[in-house]
Amino acid sequence: MNTPDWKSLVRPNVWHLAPYSSARDEYTGQGADVFLDANENPYNSPNNRYPDPLQRDLKQAVARLKGVPAANIFLGNGSDEAIDLVFRVFCRPGRDNVVAIDPTYGMYSVCAAINDVEYRRVPLGPDFSLSADKVLEACGKDTKAIFVCSPNNPTGNAFDRKEMLRLCDTFGGMVVIDEAYGDFQATPSMTAELAEHPNLIVLQTFSKAWASAAIRLGMAFAHATVIGFFNKVKYPYNVNSLTQFEGAAMLKRREDVEKWVKLILTERPKVMQAVSLLPCCTRVFPTDANFFLARMTDADAIYDYLCQRGIVVRNRSRVALCGNCLRITIGTPQENTALLAALRQWEG
Ligand SMILES: *Cc1c(COP(=O)(O)O)cnc(C)c1O
Repeated sequence: MNTPDWKSLVRPNVWHLAPYSSARDEYTGQGADVFLDANENPYNSPNNRYPDPLQRDLKQAVARLKGVPAANIFLGNGSDEAIDLVFRVFCRPGRDNVVAIDPTYGMYSVCAAINDVEYRRVPLGPDFSLSADKVLEACGKDTKAIFVCSPNNPTGNAFDRKEMLRLCDTFGGMVVIDEAYGDFQATPSMTAELAEHPNLIVLQTFSKAWASAAIRLGMAFAHATVIGFFNKVKYPYNVNSLTQFEGAAMLKRREDVEKWVKLILTERPKVMQAVSLLPCCTRVFPTDANFFLARMTDADAIYDYLCQRGIVVRNRSRVALCGNCLRITIGTPQENTALLAALRQWEG
């Protein structure tokens, strides 16, 4: 097993950090009904009370659903919070670096820049494939984390599991696998690999398949040591009560979520097929997510035209390997029909 040397991986200031201790951290007993410890207002229940800083009830529910022990779960203000925590926990500003595939989700490079951490890009293959060898070649002695998004945004494809596992087995730092779109792919989550790979961090979110982007709830699954450092560094009350409540309510609506995912996956090949037949489209790329990438004859002009028709897609034409590409999310059948109708009327 490739167990990291935690002490040399974690930033020294974080390793020695004495975390903020809130009133609710210090009293964890049961059965009290007079709370005069946190300077809360006694009126306006239930929003007068601070939320559980460790979201214990919600974590139990996530643990049951995902088959991952609660001690291996971090919940945050979107998975974006977990991405930022990877930098804040592991990367010394101005000294360390991270390696990521290119193109990929933009937040990794933004968080790297905010934390003054060098961001090394490793281009995907021409078919958007992942080469573990190329990623490992870009790593040096101060590389603390590798970021791989699978299924990848904006390309849509999921990567070969063996390649991702090879990163975990070979690399001495953390390997972050972002599964924001994992519910749309057929292959099982990398969370199944956590017990065997202590340097693996798997990210998931309520924002996509769980249809709850507004509540800002993200999940990180990792070794208990990593979760411990995330908990030390995060804001004490990083997930508010309304979000904890709504997250728990969503977990009881699994059947709705499965129905939505099925609807989206039924629509996906129809929309892709229709777009691929348009004269203004030169190529549609295979996808494992709830969106797909389409290469157009003139992405900028078509993007502007669609905006004028009240339809917004994502123009990715200035992203590496994505020249003239639009990223199109699968919507409702009505929304997809509107998109196709507009594209058929395009005269380029
Ligand atoms: C949408 C998305 C997320 C989700 O971020 P949240 O902060 O949980 O909303 C994370 N990673 C990728 C690759 C995404 O596309």
